Amino acid sequence: MKVGILGGGQLGLMLAQSAHGLGVETLVLDPAADAVAGQATRHLAKDWLDAAALDALAACDVVTCEFENVPSEAVEKLVGRVPVHPVPEALVLSGDRLLEKRFFRGLGIEPAPFAEIGSRIELGRAVADAGLPIVLKTRRFGYDGKGQVVVRAADELDAAWAKLGGEELILEGFVPFVRELSIAAVRGRDGEIRFWPLAENHHVDGILHISRAPAANVPAALLAEAERGLSAILAKLDYVGVLVVELFDLGDRWLANEMACRVHNSFHWTIEGAVTSQFENHVRAVAGLPLGDTSARGFAAMVNLVGTLPDLAPLAKEPGITVHDYRKQPRAGRKLGHVTAVADSPVALETRIRRILEVTGDRATRPAS
Ligand code: AMP
Repeated sequence: MKVGILGGGQLGLMLAQSAHGLGVETLVLDPAADAVAGQATRHLAKDWLDAAALDALAACDVVTCEFENVPSEAVEKLVGRVPVHPVPEALVLSGDRLLEKRFFRGLGIEPAPFAEIGSRIELGRAVADAGLPIVLKTRRFGYDGKGQVVVRAADELDAAWAKLGGEELILEGFVPFVRELSIAAVRGRDGEIRFWPLAENHHVDGILHISRAPAANVPAALLAEAERGLSAILAKLDYVGVLVVELFDLGDRWLANEMACRVHNSFHWTIEGAVTSQFENHVRAVAGLPLGDTSARGFAAMVNLVGTLPDLAPLAKEPGITVHDYRKQPRAGRKLGHVTAVADSPVALETRIRRILEVTGDRATRPAS
């Protein structure tokens, strides 16, 4: 069994490592010569549309992706030659905030209030309807808070338009959430679906800082509603693999923010904190193997290492703490690694998180650069 992977970042690296543990071979296509997945598997450093590279992927048993912005032509060239999971339609939807929100609504999943924006005049009208504050976002290629501007006052609209107006846009009402959650599911080729416990996520400057799981105080009715929504997405797309939806918790209801048709940063804790990780279950699903148990092993947290890497040696020997260094070149805003803590109680977990933040620095308290 050989799985081709489009994209060779840290998600591809961890997928390849999990596949290796299952005796499944992998082959990664990523134009970047220094793509980190190359540390764990064969890496084709070729253009997305390189014919020989696509032939090599088509010769795999199945192809999946770890990167949402793979050019759709590359995926189209593979479809029909080799099973591709997730299906291209899933990538189109998750790559376009407008189509994604309409898709959510069509399945009875409520997103943040939104409007399509095609001109400065439409922006003014939509703000008159929706009121302020709003978040103006590009429809495509936005991630980690990129391609979006929060507008709090009418006199900021021109600047927001000047920054983003060259692209197709969507306006979202600013959601006064109490916290952010994410929910992950895996669906096998036979249609079996399993959910991991929810993660609670804290972002700094639009980039995930800490995830804790299982999220506390999750009302059974809201959880059931979210699981129903995810199941509807998975069934509608005949989806195979891991899918994650980010949620805004408003206290008495949840709104869907966006979906990721791939493994997701807020579930990296599953490597140490769940019986089966998101990476292993994604490989299992696309390879047609039985799905593993998604239960948590106690309480877990993940802290992202962004921009610069501190000396992690003091953490490496701590019980219940695991360091993941992706061995990437440091760059402002770049995810370079993560640290996971696992404990048998929420209190013990917080002690371990404090220890991690002592060593790595707490991005939440650092002045913005
Ligand atoms: P996104 O790239 O859409 O996931 O946005 C990155 C982060 O910006 C989210 O995790 C939220 O913290 C914040 N954010 C995005 N959209 C909204 C919104 N409509 N209302 C409030 N906060 C938002």
